[in-house]
This record gives sequence, structure tokens and C-alpha cells, in this order.
Amino acid sequence: MRASNLLISTLKETPADAEIVSHQLMLRAGLIRRLASGLYTWLPMGLKVLRKTEAIVREEMDRAGAQEVLMPSVQPAELWQESQRWEKYGPELLRITDRHQREFCYGPTHEEVITDLVRQEIRSYKQLPVNFYQIQTKFRDEIRPRFGLMRAREFLMKDAYSFHLDQASLQETYDNMYATYSRIFSRIGLEFRAVQADTGSIGGNASHEFHVLASSGEDAIAFSDKSDYAANVELAEAVAPQGERAAASETMTVVETPAKHTIDDVSQYLNKPASQCLKTLLVEGVEEGSVVALVVRGDHELNEIKAEKHPLVAAPLTFVTAEKVLEISHANIGSVGPVGLTIPVIVDHAAAFVSDFVCGANQDDKHLTGVNWGRDLPEPETADLRKVMAGDPSPDGQGHLEIARGIEVGHIFQLGENYSSKLNAVVLTESGKSQIVTMGCYGIGVSRVVAAAIEQNHDDRGIIWPESIAPYQVVLVPVNAHKSVRVKEKAEEVYQQLLAAGVDVLLDDRGLRPGVAFADMELIGIPHRLILGERGLDNGMIEYKNRRSGDGEEFAIYDVVNIIK
Ligand code: ATP
Ligand code: MG
Ligand code: MG
Ligand code: MG
Repeated sequence: MRASNLLISTLKETPADAEIVSHQLMLRAGLIRRLASGLYTWLPMGLKVLRKTEAIVREEMDRAGAQEVLMPSVQPAELWQESQRWEKYGPELLRITDRHQREFCYGPTHEEVITDLVRQEIRSYKQLPVNFYQIQTKFRDEIRPRFGLMRAREFLMKDAYSFHLDQASLQETYDNMYATYSRIFSRIGLEFRAVQADTGSIGGNASHEFHVLASSGEDAIAFSDKSDYAANVELAEAVAPQGERAAASETMTVVETPAKHTIDDVSQYLNKPASQCLKTLLVEGVEEGSVVALVVRGDHELNEIKAEKHPLVAAPLTFVTAEKVLEISHANIGSVGPVGLTIPVIVDHAAAFVSDFVCGANQDDKHLTGVNWGRDLPEPETADLRKVMAGDPSPDGQGHLEIARGIEVGHIFQLGENYSSKLNAVVLTESGKSQIVTMGCYGIGVSRVVAAAIEQNHDDRGIIWPESIAPYQVVLVPVNAHKSVRVKEKAEEVYQQLLAAGVDVLLDDRGLRPGVAFADMELIGIPHRLILGERGLDNGMIEYKNRRSGDGEEFAIYDVVNIIK
């Protein structure tokens, strides 16, 4: 491709509303543009990356024996009523009505549609097992779309659904998908971990999530330093053995404050130094007076701390949290009641190092005083309350837990008969009886993978693509080609040779000053750069620079194709 024919829309400045590095760099490198909240256009350069990622996923799914289909993105409400998810799914489901007043949704996932297909097409046990997949646009009306394509509303997912006569067959395909996912993420060149996951609301028996490790990850995962044990923290919590922890109960008190959530106002009103007041954050979608869970982990900046639904709390909830408080790991539940109400909180005094703070409540003009956080957690009243911590013994008894941040890029799930029984997907068995099929589902967030790859591969100059998904493998930059016919002609020759050798090469024929062209290409993150100029040409040499290592070398021009291939 010639750069003069390509839309290269790089930005010098970091867009103000992009919080994490992948979002910033995808905008700055001209890979994506925002249309509306959670909706993005892929520009040509970005789409190349997406398509390469998709191709790896497709190749490995095909290799695993799965069959590709493409289902509609718009789905009839009747199917969702049959599975009982029309009511259950909640506001994340985008519901639409057609001109005949029939109800539809824009598919956030496709269990219903595929099960409907299978109940019509598959009649006999002889046709099982099968595994169908698609690479399709999904829409989820996320409560807080953010981080660009990391948590978008419209995004690209590879989803697969397998159907079986029995559990043993399901387990076999599940294991196959586990291995396939590991191959996909390894091939792309990502550092990832497979962790045990909660089976949550879908129901079912076994589930693993694949997480790309990155400090910006919205999930926390726990893994053993000695064994293969790895789980998402929510799951690890429920099973981690209890440590020995001294704890004492205290209370915090609801007070009325005139100001809304600014530290200085609160500080003034309560006559406490600002350093003793925690900055608070209110998250949208929380009803006044509802129960809040306080969850603060690690030394994250405020915007990295995550609101979580506490396992014991059914009500919609949010959290109150601290800015830049080191090493706090704690969960509390408190409800914002009338002024003067005291709420029990649990504090580990031995480790407590943040004490007697003021923080916001999830109600305007209300604050909590006497809030104490400890480094450690007390014995919980129920196992569910227990938060797992770094250094805890691993639940499998081998080694201790480490905690890391992860981005969920894939998820595999044994669904069992949950959908097939509701939709009555049956086959005839060998003995001629009809039997409900059993089912698995397997998702990869293809567009999220692209963002996650950037989180793991960048420096202060821009993206450093893993070779597998780079928009171009090589960029060839002729220097001052507009002044030198020799350079121009030689560059054209080398470009044609590389093309003929099957190298995905970009010729930067825009005629920009070298420094400007180089900065662009480093921001875009092309792995290999070739520079051809008058001086090199005199000696028959071409300059090479590796984007990742920054190492430069000179090659004989005639050797370029061999070296780059
Ligand atoms: P999350 O916990 O991040 O909300 P999920 O568990 O709801 O994800 P799944 O239903 O397991 O997502 O969907 C399969 C995959 O689709 C996820 O593992 C993730 O990679 C991707 N995905 C889900 N939601 C989004 C989104 N809003 N934007 C981009 N990718 C997403
Ligand atoms: Mg989700
Ligand atoms: Mg999830
Ligand atoms: Mg998931």
C-alpha cells in the first residue's frame, strides 16, 4: 500500500476524554473514531488490525473443527421470551420495535438463535457433536461504556456454541476450545492467563475466562505462585481458606454535609484536614439510599478503581472510594440511612493504617464519618464476604496467591441444558428416544483483543504491534524522494520486490520531512522500518530500525527481501 493512498489521520495531542493508553493510542494513531457513546468507526489502518486478529481466530476455530455461520444481529423477542431472558436480561438489551409493532432486540449474544437453528436442523445423535461459530457485531447497552473499544456498546465478538449428547462429549469440546483459545492468544503474542470463572447468571457447571494481564484491566485475578491454580477474584474469594486475622468492629456515621463531594468543602465543614477526607465518586445508576459496597484495591488512581456488585447485595449499588490510598484491599457494606445512623464496619486494627476518614455516601449531601480501612480483612460472617488478598494461601494448598489486573478477552462456558431444555432442542438417540442436547458456549471479544494488545505493547512514542496483527509488517521510507529521482526509483523497486515476496509493506511516499514521517510510523507501531536515502544508495545500503528494540542496522539493498521475510 502507498501511504499517499491511505487515510493516515494521526493526532499529536492526546484526546482529553481517553483515559487508558489503548484508547488514547487508537485515536492518536488514527485507527478508530468515535461516533457516539460506545460506538466507533474503524478507519482503514485499524480495520486491517481487526481483520488480522479475526483471521487468526477464524483459522484456529476452523482447525479445531468448528463450522462458521453468520446469524442475524437483530433477533425476535419471541425467542428471548422462550428462554425467559426477555425479562431477565435487563437494560443492557437494546429492544426495538418494527413497523408492525413486533418486538426485537439487537443481539448481545446468540444462544437463543443458535439453539433455534439446531432444534430445526439437527435431528439425530449421529449429527452430534457440532460446534458452530460466527464473528459478528454485538450490541450491549453497557451502563458505563468507556475505554474506547475495551468496553464499547457495539463491538465485534467471535462466539461459538457446541451441542452434545452427553457431558463427556461437552467436556471434550470444552477442553478443545480451552486449548484453541490458548493457541489463539499465544499466536497473537499476548501475555494471558486462563482463570476459573464464576458461572453467574447463565447457570452451568464449568467456566474459564481468558485474561490479558494489564494494569488497566477492569478485573482482578488471583493465581498461585506455585501451582496452576488461577481464578477470578470473586470466585477465589468464595473458596479461599480463611487466614488468621484479628479484627474488631467499629462504626461509621452518616452526617449531612452541605457540599457535594469536593474534598475541600467537606474538609471545611467538618473541620478536618483535607488529607483526612477521602475523595469520593458517585457512579450513575444508583438509587438514593441503596446499599453501597466499598471496594478499594491496590494503589490505583481513582479512575482505575472499580465499582463492584457485592455478592450479598441484590440492590443496584455503587461504591465510595479513596484516591491513591496505598495497598488497601477491603470490602464493606453500609447503607445510607438517616443522619446519625451508625453503620458497623469491620476493621483490622493490627494492620489499620487509614483511620477515621470522611468519605462520600451514595446520596447527595451526605457523608460518612469515622470510616476506617485496614490493610487486612477480618473473619467474615459468611464465606462470601471474604475478599481474597495477595499472600493468602492458594485454595489448592500449593503456594500463595498473587493478585493481578486482567482484561477479559475470552470466556468459555459449559451451559448444560439451560437453553436446550427451555427451547426444547432434542435429538433421537440410538435407541430411538428423544433427548435434550447439552450445550457449551465460547466467546472472544475480537475488538477488545486489539485494545488489549495495545495495553501490553506500547511505549511513549506509540503502539508496538505484535507482528501477528500489525497493520503492516514493514514501512519503507524514502528520504527526500521528491528531490532525488534515484531514491524514488530505488524505493519503488524495493517496494515492488517486497510486495512480490508477499510482505505486507507500506511505502511512505507522502513526501513528509523524515522526522515527521518517522514519528507517524512509530505512533502507528509498524514493527520494521526501512529508510532509503542518497547516502545509503551510494554504498548500496538501506537503513533498518526495529520498532520494539529500537535497534538500527544497515543492510545491503539487494539483501532486503531475504532479511525482511
Ligand atoms: P465483561 O465482564 O467485560 O462485561 P462479559 O463477561 O459480559 O464481559 P461475555 O458475555 O463473556 O462478556 O462475552 C464474551 C467476550 O466478549 C468477553 O470475554 C469480552 O472479551 C467481550 N466483550 C464483552 N462485553 C464487551 C464490551 N462491552 N466491549 C467489548 N468487548 C466485550
Ligand atoms: Mg458484561
Ligand atoms: Mg465478565
Ligand atoms: Mg464473560
